[in-house]
Amino acid sequence: MDSDIITQIRQTVRQLCAEYPGKYWREKDRDRAYPTEFVKALTEAGLLSSLIPEEYGGAGLPLSVASAILEEIHTNGCNGAACHAQMYTMGTLLRHGSEEQRQTYLPGIASGELRLQAFGVTEPTAGTDTTSISTTAVRDGDEYVVNGQKVWTSRAEHSDLMILLARTTPKDKVAKRADGLSVFVVDMREVVGNGMTIRPIRTMINHATTEVFFDNMRIPASALIGEEGKGFRYILTGMNAERILIASECLGDADWFIRTASDYARDRKVFGRSIGQNQGVQFPIARAYAETKAAKLMVQEACRLYDAGEPCGAEANMSKMLASEASWAAGEACIQTHGGFGFAEEYDVERKFRETRLYQIAPISTNLILSFIAEHELELPRSY
Ligand SMILES: Cc1cc2nc3c(=O)[nH]c(=O)nc-3n(C[C@H](O)[C@H](O)[C@H](O)COP(=O)(O)OP(=O)(O)OC[C@H]3O[C@@H](n4cnc5c(N)ncnc54)[C@H](O)[C@@H]3O)c2cc1C
Repeated sequence: MDSDIITQIRQTVRQLCAEYPGKYWREKDRDRAYPTEFVKALTEAGLLSSLIPEEYGGAGLPLSVASAILEEIHTNGCNGAACHAQMYTMGTLLRHGSEEQRQTYLPGIASGELRLQAFGVTEPTAGTDTTSISTTAVRDGDEYVVNGQKVWTSRAEHSDLMILLARTTPKDKVAKRADGLSVFVVDMREVVGNGMTIRPIRTMINHATTEVFFDNMRIPASALIGEEGKGFRYILTGMNAERILIASECLGDADWFIRTASDYARDRKVFGRSIGQNQGVQFPIARAYAETKAAKLMVQEACRLYDAGEPCGAEANMSKMLASEASWAAGEACIQTHGGFGFAEEYDVERKFRETRLYQIAPISTNLILSFIAEHELELPRSY
């Protein structure tokens, strides 16, 4: 992608983020409130529709640009998690949906009129073992009847549509465990209170995450995306983009921590000199800087491969792992550099520290990435 375009987009994001300082995020965090105004501003600036092709009303930009947008949001102390899924969840629909489904939903998603930012995959008993999910969708005439439960379905209360993974053929009746799972685009406006119940989960960060219950929820058969039984593969194809974009947010967090720590280390005087003059203070920040730079190269490589349509599973996974570890190291250095003030809400460090911790767990935990690398890059036996 033309670097001038990326520079311009970063500038737009920076200007927008300047309207949402730490005070805004602190208040939202305290009340566990959704950052509606921020999401509206991003939507109106067209930043959340960057990946939707122009023919459906989006900007048709490559992943490298979406990556720059999310990185810049986080570099500037804001948080894209309230709406990042609006950017990429539509990928399942775009790649595997029918032309009718694309025409029905994508223009509305591009304009922001329709919010598709709920992704119902994880379940309480299956956890990371997605093929063991127990939510079922049973065909009944022109409808499917859905029963079961999801957990950690983020932004469900702030979404009109949900991409839902459910089992359509029992696990013991399929040849491979990944078979028999299907993916649906659920119009939540039709089913909330009518088969679908959403319960918020209060967590250590302000993330609008929920658990979702399905009790004989009826959805039209036309909600099925692609072929019945192939849903797991469809979901997998979207995961590389998600991992690369989350890695980009981590890079932004790391950058914020490193800048904030360095500024504080220069200004704070103890024993008659800047604390930043001490190598014990400098080195963790310098190390985090080096780790962040290395992670950034991996993210750029993953974007390059993704945008060229080449396989990028390993690079997407390594991006997410390295960037989430770099942001955590940077957060740790930042909180330590701030001493006691690192714990004071008004410095924003403790909040960002909590927020960036998530990314070693979601959307996929580090152990599972290491398992992927071991199996697919090193040809070691599958461990699970
Ligand atoms: C705030 C938040 C938001 C989320 N948003 C969404 C969302 O919108 N949609 C959605 O579908 N999901 C979402 N998730 C779920 C997330 O993507 C994780 O996949 C999910 O949390 C993992 O399942 P689990 O928590 O049950 O962990 P488990 O699967 O129980 O794993 C627990 C620990 O054991 C380790 N472990 C498990 N199996 C192995 C193994 N074979 N080898 C080595 N280690 C292993 C894991 O690495 C992990 O550290 C979210 C989670 C959180 C916390």
